Amino acid sequence: MADETDEFRQRVSDWYEANATRRGTTDPWAVNVQTDPDEAAAHFDACRAWQGRLHEAGLMGIAWPAEYGGAGGASWMSRIEREIARDYEEWTGFVGASTAMIGPALLRHGNETQKREFLPKLLGAELTFCQLFSEPGAGSDLASLATRGDRDGAEFIVNGQKVWNSAAQHADWAFLLVRTDADAPKHRGITFLLVDMTSPGIEVRPLVQINRSAHFNEVFLSDVRIPVANVIGEIDGGWGVARTVLANEAAFIGGGPKTPASENLRTLAKQAGRSDDPTVRQELAAVISRERIVGWMGEQIQQAIHRGEMPPMDPGLIKLMAAENKVRTGNLAMTLRGPAGGSGETSETLWSQAELFGRFSISIGGGTNEVLRNNLGERALGLPREPGFSKDQPWREIPR
Ligand SMILES: Cc1cc2nc3c(=O)[nH]c(=O)nc-3n(C[C@H](O)[C@H](O)[C@H](O)COP(=O)(O)OP(=O)(O)OC[C@H]3O[C@@H](n4cnc5c(N)ncnc54)[C@H](O)[C@@H]3O)c2cc1C
Repeated sequence: MADETDEFRQRVSDWYEANATRRGTTDPWAVNVQTDPDEAAAHFDACRAWQGRLHEAGLMGIAWPAEYGGAGGASWMSRIEREIARDYEEWTGFVGASTAMIGPALLRHGNETQKREFLPKLLGAELTFCQLFSEPGAGSDLASLATRGDRDGAEFIVNGQKVWNSAAQHADWAFLLVRTDADAPKHRGITFLLVDMTSPGIEVRPLVQINRSAHFNEVFLSDVRIPVANVIGEIDGGWGVARTVLANEAAFIGGGPKTPASENLRTLAKQAGRSDDPTVRQELAAVISRERIVGWMGEQIQQAIHRGEMPPMDPGLIKLMAAENKVRTGNLAMTLRGPAGGSGETSETLWSQAELFGRFSISIGGGTNEVLRNNLGERALGLPREPGFSKDQPWREIPR
C-alpha cells in the first residue's frame, strides 16, 4: 500500500510540476474579483479549461466509476490530489464548485442514461452548471418555492423567477427546482430538473454588486420547455435531491479557500512588528487551529462523498465553522493593518478589506448561519423542531 501511495503521489506531483504554477511565484494578496464582464467570462473560461486538463490527466472524479467519466480510483487518491493541488496556483473556481454540488447528486439520484450522458461532460467541464434554487420569496425556506412546472406530454412548461444564481451568465446548463404539485405539502410537490440555459424563454440578468462585480444573477423563466427525461429522481420527489446538493455545497464551501488566510495574516503581523504580541499570537492561534480542524473534518466529509457514503458529520457544521472563522480573520487583518486598512489601494489593504467583507457572503450563500444552527440543533443534537405551521398543509393554501 505504501508503495502504491508513494507511486501515485509522485505521478500527481510530476504532473502538477509540469503543468501548473507553483504557489509563491504569484501575488499572495490577489483578490478573486472581476469587475469587468469580459474579464469575468475569461476567468470562468480559464477555470473550465483547467478542469478539462485535470480530467484529461485522470485527476477529476478520481474515485468515480470509469463508465461515468471518472478514473475508477480509490478515495485516498482524491485526498492526495487535493493535498498536492494546494501548492499550485491554478484552480477550477466556480466550475469545480458546481461539479462538487451536482456531481455526487447525479451519481446518487440520476438514472443510468443521465449518469452516462452528463457525468463525463460535467467532469471534463464540457458542460458547466449553475444552481437555480433561490427565489425572491424562497431562500432559507427554500421548500416554499413558487416557480411552476406544468406537465405537457413529454415536457414540463416552466414559469417563474430565480435569484442570487451564481455564474448563471456563464453556465451552459442549470439544476433547477420547480413546483409540480401545488396541492401537496411544500416539501412533497417539488421536482428537480436539469435545463439547458440556452433554452428559449430563459433570461439572465446579472446583479451588479457594490464592488462592481456581478457574481450572481436574476433568472426569469417564461414558458421554458424542459423534457421530462431531465427529471433527476422522482417527479414531485425533488426535495431529497436538493438536500443532497445543499449538503455537497456546504461541504464544498466549508472546505475553505485553497490558501489559508492565516498565511497572509502571519505576514501582516510581521509587517506590523506584532509577531510577538501575545494578543495577536492568541488570535492567530485561534484562526490556525480552526483552519486545521475544519480542514480535517472537511477531508473526512469529502472522503465519504467520494465513496458515495453518508458523511460522518453534517457538512453544515464545517460551513458554519468556516463562516465564523472568516469573522476572526477579517477582524485580525484590519487590526493588523490599523488605520491603513480603511483606505488606500495597496494589495495588502485590498486583501484585508476583502477578508473583512467576505464574512457576509460565506454566512449567507449555501444556507445562513442561523438556519444551519437550526438544522444542526434538530439533526445533530436532537433538539425539538422549530415551530412551523405549514409543514403538512397543501402548498397552495400557505399564505405568501
Ligand atoms: C454569495 C452567494 C451565492 C449564492 N449563490 C446562489 C446560487 O448559485 N443559487 C441559488 O439558488 N441561490 C444562491 N444564493 C442564495 C442563498 O442560497 C440565499 O441567499 C440564502 O439561502 C438565504 O436566503 P435569503 O437571501 O432569501 O434570506 P432569507 O431567507 O430571507 O433570510 C433573511 C434573514 O432571516 C434569517 N432567517 C430566515 N429563516 C430563519 C429561521 N427559520 N430561523 C432563524 N433565522 C432565520 C436568515 O438567517 C437571514 O439572516 C447565494 C447567496 C450568496 C450570498
